[in-house]
Amino acid sequence: MAHVLIAGGSLGGLMCANLLARAGHQVSVFEKAASALDGRGAGIVTHSALIQGLYRCGMPVGTELGVSVPSRITLGQQGDVLGELNMPQVLTSWSRLYQILHGLLHEAPRATLHRGVVVYGFTETGTGVNLQTSTGDSTGDLLIGCDGLRSSIRRQLWPASSPVYAGYVAWRGVCPESLLSHECLNTVFERFGFCLPAGEQLIGYPVAGPGNQCAAGQRAWNFVWYRAAATGRQLETLLTDDNGQHHPEGIAPHKVSRQQVERMRNDARNLLAPVFAEIVEKTLEPFLQPISDLATPQMVQGRVALLGDAAYVARPHVGMGVTKAMQDALALEAAFSEHGATSAALVAYSEARTSINRQLVDRGRHLGAYMQSSALEGSTLPPRAAAKVMSETAIDLDFPAATMV
Ligand SMILES: Cc1cc2nc3c(=O)[nH]c(=O)nc-3n(C[C@H](O)[C@H](O)[C@H](O)COP(=O)(O)OP(=O)(O)OC[C@H]3O[C@@H](n4cnc5c(N)ncnc54)[C@H](O)[C@@H]3O)c2cc1C
Repeated sequence: MAHVLIAGGSLGGLMCANLLARAGHQVSVFEKAASALDGRGAGIVTHSALIQGLYRCGMPVGTELGVSVPSRITLGQQGDVLGELNMPQVLTSWSRLYQILHGLLHEAPRATLHRGVVVYGFTETGTGVNLQTSTGDSTGDLLIGCDGLRSSIRRQLWPASSPVYAGYVAWRGVCPESLLSHECLNTVFERFGFCLPAGEQLIGYPVAGPGNQCAAGQRAWNFVWYRAAATGRQLETLLTDDNGQHHPEGIAPHKVSRQQVERMRNDARNLLAPVFAEIVEKTLEPFLQPISDLATPQMVQGRVALLGDAAYVARPHVGMGVTKAMQDALALEAAFSEHGATSAALVAYSEARTSINRQLVDRGRHLGAYMQSSALEGSTLPPRAAAKVMSETAIDLDFPAATMV
């Protein structure tokens, strides 16, 4: 049995901790957020690999994950139907997954979650790793960096490797079902919806409502609207709050400028199908995230490995952020079971995951290229047809079982 240190206790960290603890290892997770992350975040598309991984983490069979949709639909600006596609999927929410994984870790043997602890860095010793944190040092056999896009572990290993802004942002929000009109409920609510203004893309789908309620009337609709924002003044304005403070590494949902929200809602009325404009209008607190790519040069060095968003971030069009973290965690568990909790296991893990993760990052770049601000300034990238976008976005790459209707 080894002692595995895990930096970051979001979904990737919790997946890794659950799998390794259930495999008999001692795990210590260090998460900088002081309170439970539950309640934050929005919708997540599930894939078969994610569900299988959750079972392996101990989730009981039959656990309700979220809301099922039978199909996809694209609406034009006037609300006309531009295309439909049969594609059954289960849509969950970040908060539901966090609740499940957090509950499972609580029951797991030899697992400790240290909240409100910031990881500063690490030192490899001859026989292990010493982790420096805001509450003192901890020693373990191996360290797994699950500390996300701005990973401090990655920064120490490969200082030159950092996220690259893609040239567009995602406006996001969750609108309660109870606020929506009959027209909206009947047309898009129970489907995976798309709207494709020139050089932009809105997608959305139903998710569990507050308290993870999945019953009709208590659900919500999660939307993501990708919009170009050139580096410089345009992006800076979006990331500046109403007090004039600029947040270059991402603006917290409650700090997003009201003026920018109003501008975005106004654009929604002009550019989106009326039912989507209604959803955007009725969403109380829309928020905003710059879209970035990240591909680390290596996933592993010595006794330290990266997992999830700390290693690779594929744009959300692939719909794989959470599933990718689960696949990393499953590969790590498999490598430990074959090689023991050793540096050799980390090398095997990296061999299993590096190439596929790079392919996912490339796929995300390809799917999003036509929305980049640079593309809108004169390149020849063609707009994408509804059928193509629906059949490529957030699909289960293991089971692309979609049929046109
Ligand atoms: C609050 C939140 C909400 C999200 N909502 C969505 C969503 O709605 N839809 C979606 O597709 N994706 C969402 N994501 C991203 C999604 O969770 C990730 O793509 C996926 O789960 C892989 O996550 P990760 O665990 O690798 O990285 P992340 O989810 O980014 O987690 C990294 C964790 O490390 C912690 N951390 C960072 N630095 C340190 C440090 N120095 N010391 C200690 N801890 C540190 C962070 O606080 C965070 O909890 C969200 C992430 C977060 C944190």
